[in-house]
Amino acid sequence: MIIIKSDPENPGDEIRAAAEIIKKGGLVAFPTETVYGLGADALNEDAVGKIFKAKGRPADNPLIVHVSSFEQFYEIADVNEIAEMLMKKFFPGPLTLVVKNKKIPKIVTAGLDTVAVRMPNHRVALKLIDMSERPIAAPSANKSGRPSPTKAEHVIEDFGEEIDCIINAGETKIGLESTVIDTTVYPVEILRPGAITKEELEKYVEVGEAKPSSIPRSPGMKYRHYAPRCELIVLVGKNFEEKAFELAKEFEKKGYRVGVAGMGVGYDLGKNLEEFAKNLFKALRDLEKVNDIIIMQGVEEVGIGRAIMNRLKKAGKVYRID
Ligand code: AMP
Ligand code: MG
Repeated sequence: MIIIKSDPENPGDEIRAAAEIIKKGGLVAFPTETVYGLGADALNEDAVGKIFKAKGRPADNPLIVHVSSFEQFYEIADVNEIAEMLMKKFFPGPLTLVVKNKKIPKIVTAGLDTVAVRMPNHRVALKLIDMSERPIAAPSANKSGRPSPTKAEHVIEDFGEEIDCIINAGETKIGLESTVIDTTVYPVEILRPGAITKEELEKYVEVGEAKPSSIPRSPGMKYRHYAPRCELIVLVGKNFEEKAFELAKEFEKKGYRVGVAGMGVGYDLGKNLEEFAKNLFKALRDLEKVNDIIIMQGVEEVGIGRAIMNRLKKAGKVYRID
């Protein structure tokens, strides 16, 4: 495995070695503005197979395809008017559009006739895709079920020598995965909340509630996810500090090691929801190392708070305290 250091603002020719690995069917972990991705040539079934194997990812959970230009998007998928409008507003950025598939092999789409596509807002990622001269399929670069990686160190923690290359360009800016929306229905539906909020999308399109169905359209909706190796308790409501430390004391009396994390409380998650989002996965990975139980602050489900709570509900148990 090789580690390539790169400047997130100004990547250079060092990316070429990683692009060569992609072209030869290898696995490259790379930074995006959301989290680190584990990438392979989206048109090479054997290469994509290695992603599923390395992650231990169920075959019915499709991957997002990353492109670096609109032309590349048009080549692989059928872009309808709504998708086209959203792509012009939000690309490059943390929005993934589910559209009708044209060219992407079934292993990537988990057999669906749709494909999820995004253009990351990160110079390293865009340069890697350009130099590879093909779209790159990439889920988050963590073992299936684990918190997503926001630093190269997290990727090394999960994979070590199991992958061919990691491009290290420091910590990711957003820290939560992209918003995934289905543009093949109208109103469009949010399949996974992320940094682009429902409120922002509603300025441009009607947004409906994704109906729970027995056949999940986005299998990410189905599995337990993002979970630390220890117990996670999430408390939502007023007086988090008081309630969290009260509970921590009770657990500590029984001999458990307890970590408390909130906004300005204990392990500091930041001053606002954007900072919380950025620090969330790192906090879970830091705290699991030294605790049996994490008590974390939950937030109200508005704006990016929806994405934060979506992850916390899948990672642990959520309680209201008021
Ligand atoms: P991750 O693997 O963590 O980057 O997450 C990728 C997300 O995109 C998962 O929630 C997938 O289920 C979702 N996804 C990918 N492709 C599709 C698709 N064709 N239709 C619906 N959801 C998709
Ligand atoms: Mg993931």
